Amino acid sequence: MTLTEMKRLLAAGDIQLTKSLGQNFLHDGNQLRRIVGAAVLTPADKVLEIGPGLGPLTELLLARAGEVLAIEKDLRLVEFLRERFASERSADLLIGTVDGSRNLPNRSSAFQLLHDDALKYLQRERRDWSEWKLVANLPYSVASPILVELAQALVPPQLLVATLQLEVARRLMSTADDDDYGVLTLLVQLRYEPVEWFKIPSGCFFPEPEVDSACVVLKRRATPLLTGDGPAAFEKIVKRGFSQRRKMMLKLLKQDWPAEKLGGAFGQLQLSPQERAEKLSLEQFVALTELLLTPG
Ligand code: SAM
Repeated sequence: MTLTEMKRLLAAGDIQLTKSLGQNFLHDGNQLRRIVGAAVLTPADKVLEIGPGLGPLTELLLARAGEVLAIEKDLRLVEFLRERFASERSADLLIGTVDGSRNLPNRSSAFQLLHDDALKYLQRERRDWSEWKLVANLPYSVASPILVELAQALVPPQLLVATLQLEVARRLMSTADDDDYGVLTLLVQLRYEPVEWFKIPSGCFFPEPEVDSACVVLKRRATPLLTGDGPAAFEKIVKRGFSQRRKMMLKLLKQDWPAEKLGGAFGQLQLSPQERAEKLSLEQFVALTELLLTPG
């Protein structure tokens, strides 16, 4: 979809773009192909796309994957997409409603289009995403909570290929002691290994976003680093540890854990009592979680 074509479609549908929905549409063919290429799709793949917009990415996904589930919040775009893809896939096209009273036939389809808030859908549907890949140019205002929600799913998607703000991409890719390292890094990296990322120039979007953008690729870890109560405890430790970035982590954690237990765990991990959360690696956070959860 070229920029001219995109503008023509928006004008024909009398669609004024909504800033609060992060409607910066990607029209650069090279970037779209690069994003889809990063997902290494085959007809065996199931793809979740959040925020299909006018469908430039959807079109490529439908050509390569066996199944696409697209969730779009803006009803005007859902109606546009229904028409756009109806001729090709009319038998498979499903439309839901925002209030969740969806009426889905009980069968799998090549293309499902849901009119819904994707974050609410993910929170509500608690499904097994193990066979899915996320490929999306995410609405920037909800990109982080969507990725955390997917990372904390029962079984998260095998691959995340997400276009988002450069600043968020940096946080997802960072390691201990980086300026961008923090809660988002750790909650997502607990389940995912960063694979690659690339910048996408603002001029590739319409309208051009005020912030820089990037596409990140994250691969689900073959074996979860923590199981059972581990992930919830890890989240609590990480959030508490970063609640006051410049403060000593040991002091902060005393709000939730007995001082003796913490002292023992810090000792075993050879962590200084003065250490701040931003200095601890993912592996150290995992080990600390395990020690704090060990009875006795
Ligand atoms: N995929 C299209 C593209 O690349 O051109 C559009 C991407 S645009 C950055 C984000 C899209 O997400 C918009 O179509 C917007 O309406 C939709 N959106 C915004 N918030 C949403 C939400 N909570 N759930 C689902 N879609 C949402």
